[in-house]
Amino acid sequence: MQTAPAVRERLTEVLSEIVAIDARNPWLIPGAPGETEIAAWFAARVEALGIPVELEPISPGRPNGIARLGSGEPPVLCLNAHLDTVGDAGWPDRCYSAALTGDRLVGLGAADDKGHCAALLVALEQLLERKIALRGTLLLAWVADEEAESQGTSELIVRHPMDACIVAEPLGLGRALVSHQGFGWLDVTVAGRAAHGSAPEKGIDAIARLAELTRRLDAHAERTFRAHPHPLNGVTVYHASTVRGGTDYATYPADATLGIEIGTQPGETIADRVAEIEAIVTGMRVELPDLEARVDVRLHRPPFEANGHERLWDALDGASRDLLGRSPEPVGENAWMDTGLLGAAGIPSLSIGAAGENFHAPDESVDMAELASVTELLIATVERYLA
Ligand SMILES: [Zn+2]
Repeated sequence: MQTAPAVRERLTEVLSEIVAIDARNPWLIPGAPGETEIAAWFAARVEALGIPVELEPISPGRPNGIARLGSGEPPVLCLNAHLDTVGDAGWPDRCYSAALTGDRLVGLGAADDKGHCAALLVALEQLLERKIALRGTLLLAWVADEEAESQGTSELIVRHPMDACIVAEPLGLGRALVSHQGFGWLDVTVAGRAAHGSAPEKGIDAIARLAELTRRLDAHAERTFRAHPHPLNGVTVYHASTVRGGTDYATYPADATLGIEIGTQPGETIADRVAEIEAIVTGMRVELPDLEARVDVRLHRPPFEANGHERLWDALDGASRDLLGRSPEPVGENAWMDTGLLGAAGIPSLSIGAAGENFHAPDESVDMAELASVTELLIATVERYLA
């Protein structure tokens, strides 16, 4: 596909500068700086274009950056990318210096999602430079906290009405995300009875009971999830994450807790997953009538299935056929994304983005040729949607 060389050059320049800004999420890495500096960097560049920027704190020192282009009237199309990154373990010595080899730019957040933050800015600059007239409003949102609790997109939805949203994440050129799993982080706690280790008639071993429950949960995942993958979103996520219990070698453990991550597919809720676990506990009571177990949902997010997105799809489809010579391929993901919150709020949404490698790992990289194409796709989709 043809992209203006200026677009790719500018993306490389912007991305190299923002890779150097530490925007690790402080919820994941206590003491990390968060989004203040990188949001201010974008605000300065956008304001230099004559467009005001609102830095809206989602919590102290953690802003979303919001800008608007167009009439201020509906329809409102939002472009969303997230400013925060995961940690830098394994490569703190080099992850803040962008390294470009051929099409591959390496740096922390290069693909997820600083490259796409850069794409939003360059798309805005190009819309102005090419004097593209918009009917309605383009809302640009550089959001905070996607890698943890998604407070940035949660706040965005509350504060800014919108008619449709494109979330830019590293999906690979030519694909458009229309579905993904939800997830839950659950604690399953099994009760025992503390007793001196030499008093088995008094003690109940919570860890042994949890071990049996863990085995049955895995068998359930094998039978139900792994045997029946979702056609777009793959196998429903299930794995044990943490385990804790007991006090000392000489004492029967009074309780034991298994932390798990578990997915939900479109049409399912976290309550369905909890009910399945409770049914497994009920099944264990055939042999252990006094078994006590409790399920606590620590965090959960809904699955996503694009809905009411025909107009947005048509705009993206037209842009893709113009620029790539083909329609986008509708895809799903087994991972969760902010589109889950947008979908739950009834906002028609899709996600597109450039390919990358080594997400959340050393030597993360983005394909700059794809990033330039994605930027052109965003411009052309905005132009069509707000024509
Ligand atoms: Zn991301």
